[in-house]
Amino acid sequence: MIDLHSHSNHSDGSLTPQDLVRYAHQCGIKRLALTDHDTISGVLEAQNEAHKLGMEFICGVEISVSWKKHVIHIVGLGIDISDQNLIEALDIQQNMREERAIAIGEELANMGLDTVYPLAKELAKDAYLTRTHFAKALVKLGFAKNFSDAFKTYLKRGKRAYVHIDWLSLTSAVEIIIKSGGKAVIAHPLRYDLTKTKLKELIVDFKLAGGEGIEVVNSFPSVGALRRLETLCVDYDLLASLGSDYHGHDVNRVRMGALAQLPEKCKLII
Ligand code: AMP
Ligand code: MN
Ligand code: MN
Ligand code: MN
Repeated sequence: MIDLHSHSNHSDGSLTPQDLVRYAHQCGIKRLALTDHDTISGVLEAQNEAHKLGMEFICGVEISVSWKKHVIHIVGLGIDISDQNLIEALDIQQNMREERAIAIGEELANMGLDTVYPLAKELAKDAYLTRTHFAKALVKLGFAKNFSDAFKTYLKRGKRAYVHIDWLSLTSAVEIIIKSGGKAVIAHPLRYDLTKTKLKELIVDFKLAGGEGIEVVNSFPSVGALRRLETLCVDYDLLASLGSDYHGHDVNRVRMGALAQLPEKCKLII
């Protein structure tokens, strides 16, 4: 079983890289990629554990990019984590995260929720803050019923505590991934609320930059979604990726080891 999309507590996952790999192993995963948001700091620990357990490990990352007015996630698979270009680009992304987190904290404080930022920071420990940490804090403090409520009420685009970031451009992110020896994949292509036309434009721009794959299976897709993505792979000559996007038992109900197979006409990217 293969899983090419997962998160550790180096971004917004709950498990340490080592525990994540152990969990994946228990779930029967034979080939695993760790793909934390805008960081590769957990990769070595995960790789060491995977090799101890005799698993195949793929160094990965999930880069946030700005494309037109949208934030898109690009997964890099098989990257070289000692690549200076990649390291520098991710450092810039993380600095922007830090600044955004402070601004989100201020916005929440203006709403009278000044305890959220300190708790989010505590929950993140050494990791840079993601909106997931804010959602966790909002739920723990009783300001939101659950994750989805925390995003809907405060954190989503258009809501009061949403703070915009100009992430790396799509083209730069794809080029950085490729230069470091990796392959670029559009993560969860149906989760961006793009019209069919816009999604096709995204794919065209992505391919022009050198991107090769789209994530056909992300957590538990519907039959309809699988069919749509399979068609895009065929029509645009794209390779396919699959992953649980596991974040930890406490974050959502996604488990590892239960992924749907890639549809017949899809070719696995790695
Ligand atoms: P960030 O990269 O800090 O903006 O945070 C994005 C992360 O927040 C995503 O990777 C998801 O894990 C999580 N997320 C985004 N939207 C939602 C949502 N509506 N419900 C639950 N989690 C979400
Ligand atoms: Mn996440
Ligand atoms: Mn994502
Ligand atoms: Mn992810």
